[in-house]
Amino acid sequence: MSSKIEVQRICQYCKKEFTARTTVTKYCSHKCNQRAYKAKKRSEKVEKSISETRKKKKQPIEQLKAKEFLTVREVSELLNCSVRSVYNYIENGTISAVNLGQRMTRIKRSEIDRIFD
Ligand SMILES: [Zn+2]
Repeated sequence: MSSKIEVQRICQYCKKEFTARTTVTKYCSHKCNQRAYKAKKRSEKVEKSISETRKKKKQPIEQLKAKEFLTVREVSELLNCSVRSVYNYIENGTISAVNLGQRMTRIKRSEIDRIFD
Protein backbone atom coordinates (compact mmCIF):
# COMPACT_ATOMS: atom_id res chain seq x y z
CA MET A 1 0.00 0.00 0.00
CA SER A 2 1.40 3.34 -1.05
CA SER A 3 1.81 6.03 1.55
CA LYS A 4 1.33 8.74 -1.04
CA ILE A 5 -0.91 11.54 0.07
CA GLU A 6 -2.95 13.87 -2.02
CA VAL A 7 -3.56 17.43 -0.96
CA GLN A 8 -5.56 20.10 -2.70
CA ARG A 9 -3.38 23.17 -2.94
CA ILE A 10 -3.36 26.48 -4.77
CA CYS A 11 -0.45 27.07 -7.12
CA GLN A 12 1.49 30.11 -5.93
CA TYR A 13 2.22 31.09 -9.50
CA CYS A 14 -0.92 30.54 -11.57
CA LYS A 15 -3.33 30.44 -8.58
CA LYS A 16 -4.98 27.30 -9.90
CA GLU A 17 -6.04 24.53 -7.62
CA PHE A 18 -4.07 21.34 -7.99
CA THR A 19 -3.48 18.07 -6.29
CA ALA A 20 -0.15 17.90 -4.60
CA ARG A 21 1.66 14.86 -3.30
CA THR A 22 3.26 16.70 -0.43
CA THR A 23 2.01 19.43 1.86
CA VAL A 24 4.89 21.70 0.92
CA THR A 25 4.42 21.74 -2.86
CA LYS A 26 3.96 25.34 -3.92
CA TYR A 27 3.35 24.99 -7.62
CA CYS A 28 1.03 22.93 -9.79
CA SER A 29 3.68 22.04 -12.30
CA HIS A 30 7.33 22.16 -13.11
CA LYS A 31 6.53 24.98 -15.52
CA CYS A 32 4.99 27.14 -12.81
CA ASN A 33 7.87 26.33 -10.52
CA GLN A 34 10.30 27.42 -13.21
CA ARG A 35 8.32 30.55 -14.05
CA ALA A 36 8.08 31.54 -10.42
CA TYR A 37 11.81 30.97 -10.06
CA LYS A 38 12.51 33.10 -13.11
CA ALA A 39 10.18 35.85 -11.91
CA LYS A 40 11.97 35.83 -8.57
CA LYS A 41 15.37 35.99 -10.26
CA ARG A 42 14.14 38.82 -12.46
CA SER A 43 12.86 40.87 -9.54
CA GLU A 44 16.13 40.26 -7.73
CA LYS A 45 17.99 41.57 -10.78
CA VAL A 46 15.75 44.63 -10.98
CA GLU A 47 16.29 45.34 -7.29
CA LYS A 48 20.03 44.91 -7.69
CA SER A 49 20.10 47.27 -10.63
CA ILE A 50 18.03 49.85 -8.74
CA SER A 51 20.37 49.75 -5.78
CA GLU A 52 23.38 49.95 -8.10
CA THR A 53 21.89 52.97 -9.83
CA ARG A 54 21.33 54.57 -6.44
CA LYS A 55 24.94 53.91 -5.52
CA LYS A 56 26.19 55.34 -8.82
CA LYS A 57 24.02 58.40 -8.34
CA LYS A 58 25.35 58.88 -4.85
CA GLN A 59 29.01 58.33 -5.67
CA PRO A 60 29.58 61.32 -7.98
CA ILE A 61 28.50 63.82 -5.35
CA GLU A 62 31.17 62.44 -3.02
CA GLN A 63 33.68 62.54 -5.85
CA LEU A 64 32.64 66.05 -6.87
CA LYS A 65 33.23 67.30 -3.37
CA ALA A 66 36.85 66.24 -3.67
CA LYS A 67 37.40 68.02 -6.99
CA GLU A 68 38.96 71.44 -7.25
CA PHE A 69 37.38 72.43 -10.55
CA LEU A 70 33.98 71.42 -11.78
CA THR A 71 32.18 71.38 -15.10
CA VAL A 72 28.81 73.07 -15.52
CA ARG A 73 27.14 69.66 -15.42
CA GLU A 74 28.91 68.72 -12.21
CA VAL A 75 27.85 72.00 -10.61
CA SER A 76 24.27 71.36 -11.67
CA GLU A 77 24.49 67.96 -9.97
CA LEU A 78 25.93 69.48 -6.83
CA LEU A 79 23.31 72.21 -6.70
CA ASN A 80 20.59 69.82 -7.86
CA CYS A 81 19.50 72.22 -10.60
CA SER A 82 19.56 72.24 -14.38
CA VAL A 83 22.63 72.90 -16.52
CA ARG A 84 20.73 75.87 -17.97
CA SER A 85 20.35 77.35 -14.47
CA VAL A 86 24.07 77.05 -13.87
CA TYR A 87 24.74 78.99 -17.08
CA ASN A 88 22.26 81.60 -15.86
CA TYR A 89 24.11 81.86 -12.53
CA ILE A 90 27.35 82.32 -14.43
CA GLU A 91 25.79 84.94 -16.72
CA ASN A 92 24.30 86.97 -13.88
CA GLY A 93 27.47 86.70 -11.81
CA THR A 94 26.14 84.50 -9.02
CA ILE A 95 28.86 81.99 -9.81
CA SER A 96 32.20 83.04 -11.25
CA ALA A 97 33.49 80.69 -13.87
CA VAL A 98 36.39 80.49 -16.23
CA ASN A 99 35.69 79.82 -19.86
CA LEU A 100 38.59 77.89 -21.31
CA GLY A 101 36.86 77.38 -24.62
CA GLN A 102 33.88 75.66 -26.17
CA ARG A 103 32.26 73.39 -23.59
CA MET A 104 35.19 74.10 -21.31
CA THR A 105 33.61 76.25 -18.65
CA ARG A 106 35.15 75.46 -15.28
CA ILE A 107 33.93 76.51 -11.90
CA LYS A 108 36.08 76.44 -8.80
CA ARG A 109 34.60 74.21 -6.12
CA SER A 110 35.18 76.90 -3.52
CA GLU A 111 32.85 79.11 -5.61
CA ILE A 112 30.00 76.77 -4.80
CA ASP A 113 30.70 76.95 -1.08
CA ARG A 114 31.04 80.73 -1.34
CA ILE A 115 27.59 81.32 -2.87
CA PHE A 116 26.00 79.75 0.19
CA ASP A 117 27.89 81.99 2.63
ZN1 LIG B 1 0.57 26.67 -11.64
